[in-house]
Amino acid sequence: MNNEELWQAVLAQIQLQISPASFATWFKNTRIASQKEGCVFVSVPNSFAREWFEQKYNKTIFKVLRELDNKTKEIKYEIGKPKTDTLKKIVPFSIENRQLEFQEFKIDKDTNLNPKYTFDSFIVGPFNELSQAAGWAVTKEPGLVYNPLFIYGGVGLGKTHLLQAIGNEVVKNFEDKKVKYIPTEKFVAEVISSIRNRETEKLKAKYQKVDVLIIDDVQFLTGKEKTQEEFFYIFNSLYEKNKQIIISSDRTPKSIPALTERLRSRFEGGMITDISFPELETRIAILKSKCQERKVEFSDEILNYIGSVVQRNIRELEGALNVLIAYQKLNNNAPDLKITKTLLKNLTLSPSRTVNAKKIIQIVADFYDLKEKDLLSISRKKEIVRPRQIAMFLLRRELKASFPFIGRRLGGKDHTTAIYAYEKIAKEVNKNENLGEEIKLIKQRLLYV
Ligand code: ADP
Ligand code: MG
Repeated sequence: MNNEELWQAVLAQIQLQISPASFATWFKNTRIASQKEGCVFVSVPNSFAREWFEQKYNKTIFKVLRELDNKTKEIKYEIGKPKTDTLKKIVPFSIENRQLEFQEFKIDKDTNLNPKYTFDSFIVGPFNELSQAAGWAVTKEPGLVYNPLFIYGGVGLGKTHLLQAIGNEVVKNFEDKKVKYIPTEKFVAEVISSIRNRETEKLKAKYQKVDVLIIDDVQFLTGKEKTQEEFFYIFNSLYEKNKQIIISSDRTPKSIPALTERLRSRFEGGMITDISFPELETRIAILKSKCQERKVEFSDEILNYIGSVVQRNIRELEGALNVLIAYQKLNNNAPDLKITKTLLKNLTLSPSRTVNAKKIIQIVADFYDLKEKDLLSISRKKEIVRPRQIAMFLLRRELKASFPFIGRRLGGKDHTTAIYAYEKIAKEVNKNENLGEEIKLIKQRLLYV
């Protein structure tokens, strides 16, 4: 294993231990420059970063390095220019660097499709079969069956993979169809720059030519009115011409805040399917398929172990596998169960992964596009009251917190307010499908973030 592979393995581990934002900030442009007699020289971009690494991350990195290679004695940090951006290559699963993985493979410039994402490599289980089937149907008759196709689900559960697989399959089936995949953030940036350069007509014209438009993570249209207007226009003109539109989001159309009513009803006009959590058997099947792809082998005992401890999402499942692959390469030997447990203990024990009151409040606020202080305020606005009640409900359900505590925690409210909120949401959650979905998605985030 060379320095680069070793560093990738270290990063795969570190990523599980620190926040996505810190990871992206500090570990970008780092690499192992050289190694000498047990001393590993890590190159970082500037002196500020060096100091930060020495003081904050040294212990963590050292531990990880030693677990992978017990000849490691110390780490020295030096300032140097990176050859390539190191973060590109590891399997990212944080919100911030979610799109980075695409840079790893040859992405088609016209379609933005990454050939690595295919139906063949997409494992199907009860958790995603409806979405997969609808996607497959679309590739047979684009524009004619489910239009738009709207797929939603939490982070790292395969939305992008499926969307891209649909695109790749259409390209394969219909040579003359023009497919375009675009992450919503990129679309937003295009609209903004077209407005600045007075080129909105040109932008519209560009999208007129598309036969299959795939737009990923559409929840990022939240609050961006001008972009929504442009998108609405593009959507309609494609739709009227029976062009296929495929959309993904981390939530249902109803739950995307600040989405204009007309776009929402467009999104709801076609087929809506969800991707939920893979069950244990599917997780193991996915691991097996990834092993095949990577041409590595692990015993069933090990794969079962990974499958049973890594439950949150598929990206993390791949992250865990990467750690084991790195170990295997370095030591020329597959890890046994005991070593596997040590290597993956961060997945099970990391404190950042436990749920607490602060996290619930933050995530609920974030989900509804509010500030934390809005939830704690005394505002009686509907857009605030309801998320506040949901936060109270989750504090009770997830933490078994006492009602007086819940009231205090949400800006000094009375315990009767907390009881009322809890009962109201608890009653409604079974009846109101959309609320049920929202709560499910929020809970997924609680486990993930
Ligand atoms: P999302 O877009 O929902 O955040 P991704 O599509 O990026 O998730 O999936 C995360 C990782 O998990 C990717 O590497 C993807 O290939 C893998 N993955 C997701 N679902 C499956 C599946 N059903 N079978 C195999 N791999 C999957
Ligand atoms: Mg995605």
